Amino acid sequence: MKIDLTSIPPEGKSLNLRLTPDWWKPDSDEDRIMGIESPFSAGIKIYPAGKKIVLEGFLSTRLLLRCDRCLEPYSWDLSTDFRIYLSMSPFRGEFEVELSEDDLNVDFIDGDFLDPERIIKEQIILNVPMKTLCTTECKGLCPICGCNLNMTRCSCSSRYKTPANVR
Ligand SMILES: [Zn+2]
Ligand SMILES: [Zn+2]
Repeated sequence: MKIDLTSIPPEGKSLNLRLTPDWWKPDSDEDRIMGIESPFSAGIKIYPAGKKIVLEGFLSTRLLLRCDRCLEPYSWDLSTDFRIYLSMSPFRGEFEVELSEDDLNVDFIDGDFLDPERIIKEQIILNVPMKTLCTTECKGLCPICGCNLNMTRCSCSSRYKTPANVR
């Protein structure tokens, strides 16, 4: 779906996106997000404000993340609001993101067209913690034999202490 930003009426336009787990296509650098657990909906309201266009939205979903320590998947609930400003570029006459350019990948704008699904994807990526842990006390993998120390106890631990076991 593409939205033509030049055709937003003065009263704004509301979108309600219904997304299913197969919608999520992970980028290679975002494989910490392994998937989405159930269908979810996300709302976006787009309205003009002077020479700008404001996008306000919310989303709530349950993600499947990969633990940084033990590499096992775990469920994580995400619920967030967002607001993004777009302004017309004086040089190119096209809309572009005005704020938070450092944080946002602007793939969701193509000239005067906006891809709302890309905005939702971007918000999911931005809101996932930098460090993903299945539990705060996750013991991780044994650095010697590679077993998951949350589930099994190997004999290596008597010879080598993992950081999680050091007190
Ligand atoms: Zn873990
Ligand atoms: Zn081991």
